[in-house]
Amino acid sequence: MKIISINAGSSSLKFSLFNMEDETVIASGLFERIGIEGSCYTIKYNGEKIEQKVEMNNHEDAVHLLLERLIDLHIIESLDEINGVGHRLVHGKDKYSSSVIITDEVIKDLDEFSDFAPLHNPANILGIKAFKEVLPNVSMVGVFDTAFHQTMDKTAYLYPVPYSWYKDYGVRKYGFHGTSHRYIADSVNRIFGREDLRVISCHIGNGGSIAAIQNGKCIDTSMGFTPLAGIMMGTRSGDIDPSIITYVMEKEGKNASEVIEDLNKHSGLLGLSEYSHDMRDIIESAEQGNEKAILARDKYVRTIVNYIGQYYLLLGGADAIVFTAGVGENSSPIRRLVCESLLPLGVKIDLEKNEIRGEVTKISDKGSKISVYVIPTNEELMIARDTMSLIGE
Ligand code: ADP
Repeated sequence: MKIISINAGSSSLKFSLFNMEDETVIASGLFERIGIEGSCYTIKYNGEKIEQKVEMNNHEDAVHLLLERLIDLHIIESLDEINGVGHRLVHGKDKYSSSVIITDEVIKDLDEFSDFAPLHNPANILGIKAFKEVLPNVSMVGVFDTAFHQTMDKTAYLYPVPYSWYKDYGVRKYGFHGTSHRYIADSVNRIFGREDLRVISCHIGNGGSIAAIQNGKCIDTSMGFTPLAGIMMGTRSGDIDPSIITYVMEKEGKNASEVIEDLNKHSGLLGLSEYSHDMRDIIESAEQGNEKAILARDKYVRTIVNYIGQYYLLLGGADAIVFTAGVGENSSPIRRLVCESLLPLGVKIDLEKNEIRGEVTKISDKGSKISVYVIPTNEELMIARDTMSLIGE
């Protein structure tokens, strides 16, 4: 059985084609600058990489081209080989707590929830409509970023603000990166061979969030009403005192959206270091003694440790702490600094094992009270698994 996982952005479309017999990636790639001058695509398969500039006016053009190329390159012999298409969808509000077969109602809901994810939901709809047009008879499944967090209780997801904001406008914590946290929870269950576990999943990439998971279910997560909340990120501030917003509006003559833009795009590592949003640059600079880079790195670590401590108490202990995503999978210095701060919880890492990059590895020492793992996330595979299980029903 072959399944395509799709992640559609406003001008891009990422895909992975899976052979679900052994869950291997047959081909993957990216179609970029769709509807913009200079549109191009990259397809990787069999260890080769094909890049080409081609005019693509819309997502439908991109999907046509993708399928054409899959056949031309003999990656598949006919479109009949594609059994299902899984779409990464961002916001399902509190209506969707698991993946679903995409129907007209799902598309209508995505549109209705666009207020909550103004960049992502409309782009997801473009991706769905393009596949619907080009492959009308193939079942499609939607996998929401918010779904895994729907098991949080009210104490976790409500903000201490006027209750009517929640009732009337849906102001609450939704959480994001749910598909990644669910993949981590499943992976830890497989490693331990049981499900009654307390897991702290640290998805730290350019965006980042931490989830507290008990018996495979999310009980709290660091992102909130939007992905701006929680830990410090590449360019996002994470949690701040909201009064800063009106104060800076007055000081800089900006409106609220402009200050929120500063918090989304000019804060985090970039904001504090005044140099880069990329952890590789920050670490290198910090190692050379750059004070702003050291500050940015240390604040980043502090916000992660704060959430881990919080979730350790909430879970009543922890069986596993997992690092994943760009920084979590690759940055041994950040993992070391986080784990050193967790010494009071009995965490000890093996410095040699911690040097690993991008491979499932237990990096905690034998004497550690909590097992610490690096587990590369795989949202695309999770989407393909959900698609296979729903279309098989
Ligand atoms: P996104 O949130 O955009 O999906 P990723 O999970 O791909 O981000 O993470 C990207 C980030 O991972 C980069 O900005 C970079 O800071 C970090 N990263 C990647 N490789 C390394 C590395 N070897 N050391 C430190 N950080 C790294």
